[in-house]
Amino acid sequence: MQKQNYTALRRRLFGTLLLLALVPLLALGMFCADRLNSAHGDKVSSILGAVGRNKVRSIDTFLIERVAQIKNLTYTHSYEDLIDVQSLSQIFSTMQANGKHFVDIGVIGRNGKHLAYVGPYDLAAPDYSETEWFYEVMRKGVYVSDMFMGFRNEPHFIIAVMRHEGAHTYIVRATIDLAALNSLAQRTYEGERSDAFLVNKDGILQTQSLFNGNVMSKMRLHLPKGAEDFKKPFSVPMQDAAQEEPVEYLALVYPLSVTSWRLVMVEDVRGTLAPLQQLRIFIMLFVVLGALLAAVGALLATRSLINYLMEQDKKQAQLDAQLTQSSKMAALGKMATGVAHEINNPLMLIRESAGWMRDLLAEEKPENYKNYQELCETAEKIEQHVERASGITHRMLGFGRTVAPSQGELFVPMLLDQTISFLAGEARLRNIDIVRDYAEGVGSVITDGSQLQQVFLNIIDNALDAVGKNGTITVHVEQWKPEGAGEAGCCVRISDTGSGIPQDKLKRIFDPFFTTKKPGEGTGLGLSICFTILESLGASIHVESEVGVGTSFIISLPHERNK
Ligand code: ADP
Repeated sequence: MQKQNYTALRRRLFGTLLLLALVPLLALGMFCADRLNSAHGDKVSSILGAVGRNKVRSIDTFLIERVAQIKNLTYTHSYEDLIDVQSLSQIFSTMQANGKHFVDIGVIGRNGKHLAYVGPYDLAAPDYSETEWFYEVMRKGVYVSDMFMGFRNEPHFIIAVMRHEGAHTYIVRATIDLAALNSLAQRTYEGERSDAFLVNKDGILQTQSLFNGNVMSKMRLHLPKGAEDFKKPFSVPMQDAAQEEPVEYLALVYPLSVTSWRLVMVEDVRGTLAPLQQLRIFIMLFVVLGALLAAVGALLATRSLINYLMEQDKKQAQLDAQLTQSSKMAALGKMATGVAHEINNPLMLIRESAGWMRDLLAEEKPENYKNYQELCETAEKIEQHVERASGITHRMLGFGRTVAPSQGELFVPMLLDQTISFLAGEARLRNIDIVRDYAEGVGSVITDGSQLQQVFLNIIDNALDAVGKNGTITVHVEQWKPEGAGEAGCCVRISDTGSGIPQDKLKRIFDPFFTTKKPGEGTGLGLSICFTILESLGASIHVESEVGVGTSFIISLPHERNK
């Protein structure tokens, strides 16, 4: 596989693994956060909702009771009783017996003027006929006003009931004690910055608020559109004096049934939200850490998988190359043997003829022949070249022949020492250093020593040729155990600092007759014979080379050839 293919595969694998790990993690995190939010929201909502409902019920009841009280006294007392200040005063004190809910009471005639009044203010003079509440009570019969300033010039609100009794039409009007209403509204649920107050439909405060303004001022809290109908708590941002950023509050708006007022409750839920926030941070940390771990895991898994794949691919490529080489060798071996046989016979004939020519010339007198000497030399040359050619055919026959290797116990470093000693003189002459680097723990193997020596000789000889002069040849041996093998064999690496082999030639160096040497210096049979020998020994050979740096031949020899 090509390098960019590995990179693409690595990316794809990493992405898939990461996705597989991250998707469930994120889904779990989101699910937990969602459950947490809704569980907490439900809890706070239900508590706040319940408090709101109770409060509204008690304010409604309070107002209904007060209206009923005024209605009762209007209809159970006669006109004369009511306009008599003394009797009205008595009626008023009876009303206040169950709790001081009223500030004053007055009876007002059709003309809008007080007929009688009991209370702390001086309201004999004012004419109410032009006031809004007067108009409303004349129209509706019963009227609960919003908070207003009135003639007394301070915030108050009234309940007014109109009655026709005979020829008399009059209004009984009472002012409700604001403190009673305030305390009803303000009794709130927990939280340091809780607030509760009543507002009219225009958002004007009807009771005192702790943080949202005074009675009759516009409430500071900005409710979203349609909030009058919210009976469920919702979240509103509120600017806190101490903080720059607005803080989220939980608010509830509940309409009253007696008036058009609304109860507004504002709850600072930061305190109750703190553990939730912590849990949320914990979940986030868990997800982030989980994602990081997943990423590292995916990276490591991808790396080891790709490395394994690369290793396997490399092994497979070596195996493939070896297999191709083996089949090529088998075919070429057959051909070489055939050619060698065919050439051998004429060569023998030529050699015999040349010998015969020499024998005949020996019987003649040299002085009878002008070119006697030349003829003798020619016959000798023919014999010499025939000798050389038959040497080659002999090697060719050897290459084709499959000689069963003999088996004997052998210590490879010792065999290497012996081989190096054969070539040491030559190396010294050329100033080439042969370094022996034998690792510890290399055991003996069972193989054919002489065939293996032929291999080492050929490879080191080639290395000497490649280095030429002044260089190093390193012979390294270490233990090597193929997968599934019982005992360990060894791996021999013969490296040189020679010229190196270009990529296009690297594929062909084990081919018979492939040589880069001058005619007469190399036959191109050395490495192909090495390959065949090693194959018959159950070993393998491969080459690594870089032009200008050097070449390494790596021979992997099992402990014993598989039978
Ligand atoms: P020959 O040595 O007769 O050429 P070989 O089969 O032994 O035949 O080698 C084939 C070719 O491989 C050589 O001609 C040479 O080009 C190349 N070769 C072998 N060993 C080395 C080496 N150590 N460094 C560079 N080239 C090498």
